[in-house]
Amino acid sequence: MLMNNYLRADVGFVRGYGATLWDEYGKDYIDFASGIGVCALGHSHKGVAKIISKQSKTLLHTSNLYNITPQSKLADKISNLLGGEYELFFANSGAEANECAIKLARKFGYKQGKKSEIISLANSFHGRTIATLAMTGQDKFHPDDFAPYPNGFKFYNSIDEIIENLNENTAAVIIELVQGEGGINPLDKAKVQELAKILNQKNILLITDEVQCGVYRTGEFITAKLYEIEPDIITFAKGLGNGVPIGACASKKPIFAPGDHGSTFGGGFLVTSVAEYVLNELENLKNSGKLDKKISKFEKKLDKLVKENSDIFEKRVGLGLMQGIVVKDSNLLNTIILKALECGVLVLRSGSNTLRFLPPLNLDKKEMKEGFSRLKLAISKAKK
Ligand SMILES: *Cc1c(COP(=O)(O)O)cnc(C)c1O
Repeated sequence: MLMNNYLRADVGFVRGYGATLWDEYGKDYIDFASGIGVCALGHSHKGVAKIISKQSKTLLHTSNLYNITPQSKLADKISNLLGGEYELFFANSGAEANECAIKLARKFGYKQGKKSEIISLANSFHGRTIATLAMTGQDKFHPDDFAPYPNGFKFYNSIDEIIENLNENTAAVIIELVQGEGGINPLDKAKVQELAKILNQKNILLITDEVQCGVYRTGEFITAKLYEIEPDIITFAKGLGNGVPIGACASKKPIFAPGDHGSTFGGGFLVTSVAEYVLNELENLKNSGKLDKKISKFEKKLDKLVKENSDIFEKRVGLGLMQGIVVKDSNLLNTIILKALECGVLVLRSGSNTLRFLPPLNLDKKEMKEGFSRLKLAISKAKK
C-alpha cells in the first residue's frame, strides 16, 4: 500500500504516443500537461526510446568515481547553449538541483565573510526537501508539522522588497522568472534586470530556478535569455529528460572542490545520454522556427477561449508553452479540471485560481485542435 501523500484523480494511464494518453479502458486523452512539463517531446518518442534501449545494452551505471562520457558531453552541450561559461552538476530532480545551488551559494557566501542568507520571492516554489521547502516563498508549505526548518532563508513579497532587504549577510537571491506553482506569473522584466544589476554590484549571487520554465518551455533554452540577464546559477530538471529523472545545476563561478557535493545516481549514463538527445531535438525544433509557430498558435487558441468565456475567465498569463488562464471564481477551477478529464483532455492547476497548460513542445496540429475542442466542451459543462 502507498503512503497517503498525493491527491490523485481516479484514472491510470497505460500507454501514450505524442500528446495522447490511453487509460486502462482504452479511452484517449489529449495531454496538455506533459506530466508537469516533463515530456517535452511527448510520449513514446521513437528517438528517446532508441537511446534508452541502446544505452541500457551498453552501460547503465559505474558511479561518479570514474569518468562518465555522456555526462561530460551533456555538460558541454548545456554550457554551449548557455554561451560557454557555465560548469555543471547533475542530480536526479529539481529539488536536488536547487540543493546544489544552495550549497554553492552558502560556500560562496562563507568565503565572502560568512554570508549565508538566501532570499526568495513570495509565491515561489523550489522543491519538497526540507531546505528547498524552507526556501519556498509560500507559508502554506511551512506547516508546523515539519518544523524545525533549516535557518537562513527569507522571502519577500516583491522584487522591490527583496532589494530593500539585501544586507551584509545575503549570499544569494533565487527567483523563478515565470513562477510555475504559485500561479503562472512571469516576473516584470525591468524589475528583474534592476535586481540583477544590484546583485552584481553587491557580489550577491543571482540564481534562476528554471526547473519548470527552462529547457525551451518559454521559447528559449533558458527564460533568462528572454529577460536578457545572465544568472550566476541556473537550475533545471522537468523538461530535460522527457521523463527520465534528471536535474542539473549550472554555475558560472567554480565554487566546489572534490568532496563538496555528490550523488550516487546523478549524471548516470542513461539519463545524460537521453538528455543530450532531448536537447538536440529541442534545439532543432527551435532553430527550424517550428517551436515559435506552435507557441503563437497555442496562444491564439487560448486568447480565443478566454474571449469566448469572458464570463468565467479573467485573462491569459504566461510565456511560450508555459501558459495559464486566470479563472474569476476559484471554486470553478476544480470543476473545469475534472470536466476536462471527463472530456478527455489533461490540464493542470497553478496557485489558487489559474488553469495551467504545459503541453509537449512538439505538439502537433491535430492534437492541439482536438485538445481545444475537448476543452471547450468541458468548459461548457463546467458552467452548467
Ligand atoms: C517542480 C519544481 C521544483 C521541484 O522539482 P522536483 O523534481 O519535483 O524535485 C523546483 N522548482 C520549480 C520551479 C519547480 O517547478
